[in-house]
Amino acid sequence: MAEVESGVACSISSRAHDLHFRSLVIDTHVDTTQRLLSGDFDLGAAHADGSIDIPRMREGGVGAIFFAVWIPGTVTGAEAVERALAQIEAVHRSVARHSHDLVLARSAADILSARAAGRIAILLGVEGGHMLNHDLGVLRQYADLGVRYMTLTHMRNTDWADASTDAPLHNGLSDFGKDVIREMNHLGMAVDVSHTSDKAVADVLATSDAPVFASHSSCHAICATPRNLRDDLIRAIAAKGGVIQINFHMGFISQKFREAEKAGAQFEREIEAEVKRRVGDDHGRFMIEADNVVREMVAEGKLPRVEWTDILDHIDRAVKIAGADHVGLGSDFDGANMPYGMEDASRLPQITDALLDRGYSEEDIQRILGGNALRFLQNVEAFAQPSLQK
Ligand SMILES: [Zn+2]
Repeated sequence: MAEVESGVACSISSRAHDLHFRSLVIDTHVDTTQRLLSGDFDLGAAHADGSIDIPRMREGGVGAIFFAVWIPGTVTGAEAVERALAQIEAVHRSVARHSHDLVLARSAADILSARAAGRIAILLGVEGGHMLNHDLGVLRQYADLGVRYMTLTHMRNTDWADASTDAPLHNGLSDFGKDVIREMNHLGMAVDVSHTSDKAVADVLATSDAPVFASHSSCHAICATPRNLRDDLIRAIAAKGGVIQINFHMGFISQKFREAEKAGAQFEREIEAEVKRRVGDDHGRFMIEADNVVREMVAEGKLPRVEWTDILDHIDRAVKIAGADHVGLGSDFDGANMPYGMEDASRLPQITDALLDRGYSEEDIQRILGGNALRFLQNVEAFAQPSLQK
């Protein structure tokens, strides 16, 4: 489509364009860190593949973005810590290399000063408690290095928390898991309940003094995957002052896509085998190539096509359940299969346009784009021990 080629910003209303670019836009989850590990990837160049680089973040009006530190849940112990530290270092290096455009943010205040200086705030989130190696000292080390949230699990249980996609092992959180939550509160680090089992989320809500959030999860009522949040948990997270950051992944926003994927149990194996054949063990290429393979399968009619506008249905649902003060954006760019029309960060202004079309007020749209996430981070910081506050 010509209008897309000439830039998404041009194809939206001028009111939406104006509103979007004067708003603070925060995306709380992208997996671009994996790409930074393969030496030649330059965040400063415009890329034809993947979803995130500086030019496309600029085009999409991104003000702050969380780079996930991720390794497979099968990697544990000291090796997990070592690899997490290498990823944190890779993010630090990329930010330093592009200091004209980027700045590492360690607080909500840092996000605001980055914005005032015309830079994009880069923040760190650790995706999976297996990277703690059962050691609160490691958690404090991550906090020192600028990590602002931690997801308690990835797809598998950790040795102290149950994952939504694994068989329950701890009936939610173990006693050590509760210690982790309390220490995160003391450090002013946000507790991320994306990926954790429903019982673990309930345990987190009962244990944490500070509000908690889901950095990249959508609504279970629309798409019944264990990775999405049921209405009662959305309500409970909001009641505690938290936010639900809507994930854009096709398999999490479209029930039709999820069912087709599940019905063809061979699909997942087929996709994985094909991607492995193309990229081997290069994690930086894995998800991006997986997205290519999925798109080929959509073109062949094996999987249904999911449009980006489905994201809006999840925002509507979460707003209906929790209120516009408790919903935001956690795209999962570079770590998932993006719906058609939302291939990369440059497409984000379309969300503002669509929310205006759906009758949202400008104030509510600004909250959803980033205001809620910012307030949430401020509230979490307020629970940090005074000795740890600057
Ligand atoms: Zn994830």
